[in-house]
Amino acid sequence: MRVNAGFSRLLRLDGIWVRGVRFETDRVVVWVALRRRRLRCPLCDFSTPHRHNRQRVESTWRHLDLGVWRLELRAQLRRLECPEHGVRVKSVPFARHASGFTRDFEQLVAWLATRTEKTTIKRLARIDWDTVGRIIARVGTDELDPDRLHHLFEIGIDEVSWRRQHQCLTLVADHIRGQIVWGTEGNDSAAADRFFTELGKSRTGAIEVISLDMGPGYAKSAREHAPQAIIAIDPDHVVALANRALDDVRRVYWNELRRIGDRDAARRFKDARWSLLKAPENLTDNQTTTLRRLRRAGGEVWRAYTLKEALRAIFAPGLTVDDVTILIDRFISKAARSRLQPFVRLGQTIRRHRDGILQAIRLGINQGRTEALNNKVRLITRRAYGFHSAKAALALVMLSCAPITLHPPHESHPQQA
Ligand SMILES: [Zn+2]
Repeated sequence: MRVNAGFSRLLRLDGIWVRGVRFETDRVVVWVALRRRRLRCPLCDFSTPHRHNRQRVESTWRHLDLGVWRLELRAQLRRLECPEHGVRVKSVPFARHASGFTRDFEQLVAWLATRTEKTTIKRLARIDWDTVGRIIARVGTDELDPDRLHHLFEIGIDEVSWRRQHQCLTLVADHIRGQIVWGTEGNDSAAADRFFTELGKSRTGAIEVISLDMGPGYAKSAREHAPQAIIAIDPDHVVALANRALDDVRRVYWNELRRIGDRDAARRFKDARWSLLKAPENLTDNQTTTLRRLRRAGGEVWRAYTLKEALRAIFAPGLTVDDVTILIDRFISKAARSRLQPFVRLGQTIRRHRDGILQAIRLGINQGRTEALNNKVRLITRRAYGFHSAKAALALVMLSCAPITLHPPHESHPQQA
């Protein structure tokens, strides 16, 4: 087999001829030409047999590595004149518009990004993290299931921060399928408005339940666009608020220990954070011991802990709406009498949202059901730290949690004899 024919089989790219192969110091360069005669616009379906002029444009794409070699494709491409988009370099079947990588290479990077962390991908693929971001944004635009906004009945609108505290994404979950179906930058009512606008009037009208956090922004938008929907407060958010209140109490106590100069106790106590915040059934042996010590010590931190655990227990599966109603009212009055400021405030917030919380129980939205997806989203957004664009962070969430199936590239090529 001659070299060109050999490389043609190796590359497994449809619609190309290999014209020549050259080994350079750090890469293999394969010159290719397109088989198809018609020139296609990279931005629309327009195609024409007529080239714009005699000039050709040299283009380069990185393809999957060949052993330890980088593999680069090069081609001289004609330009065409699209009635809508003007003079453009024609599109190629093996790469996305304006990308310096082949679809196979992008597929590999996207698949890796949903499964492993930053350093591994950067070293393996030999590209920087923002390049990973641009690749997954392109793959996301192309591959997301276009029908994901059909048949939405129970949704949740939620915010998540992807870069320190202040940069947020708004995500919409389909509770029935347990997937994220939509997302945007920002976390105000305008972000939710954009969702309902894209969804359209008739599909918005079909939504029966919207679960929310306890902030005012999304609630305002939901009431305006989907007045027929029942607003429920996601129990996972209620428990998350209780954890924050407990952490406030713990921090105040810890600072107090440091202020009075009890260094050892302060250090021990800082380690106690996870013993307090994790569910008791998930604690390590050491954390269980720490928790026992905190119980013996008693005091404000222990009282805060028992309040938090009492609240968490309310949302365990299996309790009836009547049970939960009694337990919530009991919690509200306990919190009011707790003399712990963060819990007094928490009790007030819960009282204001009591109806929404009970709606969630009535509809069977218990903590476990929403918690799994929320945890997955949080894990993914932590990996998105370090991206410089919200678009990339959002693409990573969508590729990982939306209706989409990514494969490593060899699985999407039909076997050849
Ligand atoms: Zn066009």
